[in-house]
Amino acid sequence: MALMTAPVSSNRPLLNRRLAGFGTTIFAEMSALAARTGAINLGQGFPDTDGPAEIAEAASRAVLTGLGNQYPPGPGVPELRTAVCAHQQRFYGLAYDPDTEVLVTAGATEGIAAALLALLEPGDEVIALEPFYDSYAACIAMAGAVRVPVTLRPHAGAFTLDLDELRAAVTPRTRLLLLNTPHNPTGTVLTPAELAAVAELAVERDLLVVTDEVYEHLVFEGAHTPLAGFPGMRERTLSISSAGKTFSFTGWKVGWVTGTRELVTAVRTAKQYLTYVSAGPFQYAMAEALRLPDSYFDGFRADLRRKRDLLGDGLRAAGFEVFQPRGTYFITTDITPFGEKDGQAFCRALPERCGVAAIPNSVFYDDPATGRSQVRFTFCKGTGVLEEAVERLGRLAR
Ligand code: PMP
Ligand code: GLN
Repeated sequence: MALMTAPVSSNRPLLNRRLAGFGTTIFAEMSALAARTGAINLGQGFPDTDGPAEIAEAASRAVLTGLGNQYPPGPGVPELRTAVCAHQQRFYGLAYDPDTEVLVTAGATEGIAAALLALLEPGDEVIALEPFYDSYAACIAMAGAVRVPVTLRPHAGAFTLDLDELRAAVTPRTRLLLLNTPHNPTGTVLTPAELAAVAELAVERDLLVVTDEVYEHLVFEGAHTPLAGFPGMRERTLSISSAGKTFSFTGWKVGWVTGTRELVTAVRTAKQYLTYVSAGPFQYAMAEALRLPDSYFDGFRADLRRKRDLLGDGLRAAGFEVFQPRGTYFITTDITPFGEKDGQAFCRALPERCGVAAIPNSVFYDDPATGRSQVRFTFCKGTGVLEEAVERLGRLAR
């Protein structure tokens, strides 16, 4: 009998309603464009140099000595859970129990997905700071929840949060606040005073909070302050971070979630049925990475600060309006000074025009018109690469 080769025939679209409209991520699209044109890729945020050699060696040693080659424990290997707790204590003075208050995930992405799938009922409202990282909208949609953006707005050369707008966005249906600081793509870092106000609001309105802190070690002025440390927040906050950014191993996909036993247990329930467990050998290597001396974290930040200034100065000289990032490894710019308004068209043409790829921020907004003229560049690349990119971008105005 011939095999059935006809596609599923139905009037119904294959992709369900919750995911309708979520096409290929902008990161994949722009990285493919960069590869096709040979452009310098300042779009997708991944470093062009791997993290510390001794940590890569620890991963390879783990594979070769059989550490984690078979299903590791569901919550993560004890070595990593203990190291995550030691990290939270060392940098923030936050105490968590490695046995019950930590969960290892497949990157922060799975942590966010599992948290939202575990904690939300269909119809719950989730407040997120817009422009938001693209997985937020998709995960909120997969949970059947409703996203409510609170837009960060340009003010005096940077993007800022209007606390009154945030307060006004809370309704009786609001269940959860999804907070990203340091913030991708704007580079905004919420100040301790802003975080205190957010915490007060969460307590007053009895909200759960999920914090995405993947750029915790990339704060260029001041220090990262986790929301979980504010009064009343430990019991309602799930803090999420990962290895990708801090240790320049974005391909390893090791992330972690910390929070109360009740919150972490809820997330673990969802995670069990998403990936069951996360890749084993990398967990052992990450346990070593989290225990690197302060000099590693200081050096990493200093290097990226220098690169921020290099690229920022270059973008300004090339004619962009630059919003100075206080954290992350991204710079958001505005292309209006070039007499252009459409960031998507600009980014699609940029590789041909000058051999550089970037990301249009409009895709991070509910209403793309809000961020239409914004374009994001990453500076997590080698100094020589950034210098060449700056040189190429300088040709735009000429
Ligand atoms: N959150 C934000 C704000 C990010 O920029 C990224 C980077 N990809 C992630 C989450 C995902 O992190 P991971 O690669 O650990 O899943
Ligand atoms: N976080 C990175 C960025 O914002 C990469 C994200 C991704 O490829 N999913 O560019």
